[in-house]
Amino acid sequence: MNAPTEALGNALGSMQPLIYGSGAEAPARDEAALLEAACRVAVISAAHADAVDREARFPREAFEAMRNERLLSAMIPRAFGGDGLALDGVSRLCEALAQGCASTAMIYAMHQSQVACIVDHGAHVAWQRDLLARMVDEQLLLASATSEETIGGNMRTSACAVDLVDDAFLIEKLAPTISYGAYADCILVTARRHPDAPPSDQVLIVAPRDTFELEPRGTWDTLGMRGTCSEGHRLTARGNAEQILPAPFSKIADESMLPVSHTLWASVWIGVAADAVNRAHHFFRNQARGKPGALPPSASRLAQAVTLQRMMQARLEAALDAVSDANAERIARQAKESDQVEDTPLGASIGLAADLNMLKLAISTTAIQVVQEALMICGMAGYKNDTEFSVGRHLRDLLSAPLMISNDRIELNTANLLLAQRHAVTGTI
Ligand SMILES: Cc1cc2nc3c(=O)[nH]c(=O)nc-3n(C[C@H](O)[C@H](O)[C@H](O)COP(=O)(O)OP(=O)(O)OC[C@H]3O[C@@H](n4cnc5c(N)ncnc54)[C@H](O)[C@@H]3O)c2cc1C
Repeated sequence: MNAPTEALGNALGSMQPLIYGSGAEAPARDEAALLEAACRVAVISAAHADAVDREARFPREAFEAMRNERLLSAMIPRAFGGDGLALDGVSRLCEALAQGCASTAMIYAMHQSQVACIVDHGAHVAWQRDLLARMVDEQLLLASATSEETIGGNMRTSACAVDLVDDAFLIEKLAPTISYGAYADCILVTARRHPDAPPSDQVLIVAPRDTFELEPRGTWDTLGMRGTCSEGHRLTARGNAEQILPAPFSKIADESMLPVSHTLWASVWIGVAADAVNRAHHFFRNQARGKPGALPPSASRLAQAVTLQRMMQARLEAALDAVSDANAERIARQAKESDQVEDTPLGASIGLAADLNMLKLAISTTAIQVVQEALMICGMAGYKNDTEFSVGRHLRDLLSAPLMISNDRIELNTANLLLAQRHAVTGTI
């Protein structure tokens, strides 16, 4: 979990006794143990990845294994009964999972970005704390409904609105894409704060399964990421005010949803590319063994693919460090100000937002390039769908990356952020 989350969890833990369910009795595991568990799940998900892709079905075997391994609560702080794994650790779990099945890993990454929103912004609300205990106990799977018909991928605006009467709300949202909505135990939904609020005045509602209904709208017959089952739905949810996270959605998005989504999505894409590179490397070594003394013709492509792969990993590590530093600074400021909590200085938050956008742009395009190199190295063996060197599914899955919040939209947004900065890149002069 990121630093503020851990600090908040510890602080609450010392303030009042938390009522844990049976999951809390399981001792928290360290990153190595969790990574081993993720690798065991990746083996299972790899065995079913082709069927999941072919049938565009939910990766149920992988998620059964994930629940048995209690991986869905890995990021929940120890004070709430989870393993308290930091964001960089979760990133490594996503990368490992993605080498087995991209859809499984993407679902896991999307789940974690929703977990972070509740932990970071809801842990001081009794109802949300109870839900955290349930998330550990019952290994609940969380989904997200930010995009909306007529709004598209601009998650910072909503058309639907919360209608709060006597502390009870009703919300209806036409969501063009809710990944694994039909399999989720809880959905986090953005909406305008009240019926008269402007589109950008948003809140985030936490809706467990018994409070929402989904009416399917459309299908999910896509090029890739077919196992995410991201159909459109008419979502109707009812509940009470405690389900609405108190912080404005803009703050939740800046501090938790975007940093966690962008770093974990990148981890998934890097993991998918890593599996393709490993297949190409294996193919290359077989070729070299067949003709001792001469390098196969694709030698420079392999060097290029591995170079790009390492660059992506380094870029992701830098972003994870930047998120961790920003969280540490925020905690330090909050501790200093105690009851007068200051927001992050504008320049710093703009810098981090631009950096995370650029991470998304860089990894979503480079991962595709890497898999194309792998395809060129493996040739027909990579192009066919039924060989040990097939990379077609990898390529199709990765083609979703530039669309998952359109890169065109993110580029314009980034250029606007850069306009507000004195230097686009830090230099020595
Ligand atoms: C695998 C996958 C899973 C997803 N899961 C979820 C989920 O669980 N929950 C959820 O809410 N959403 C989800 N989404 C939706 C996603 O986050 C985006 O909202 C969605 O991909 C945007 O859809 P769009 O491209 O049709 O719309 P838009 O973002 O509106 O873009 C349409 C096209 O118009 C252009 N365009 C539009 N506006 C601009 C602009 N301002 N600047 C530049 N160009 C622009 C772009 O070229 C773009 O290609 C998922 C998407 C994918 C691919």
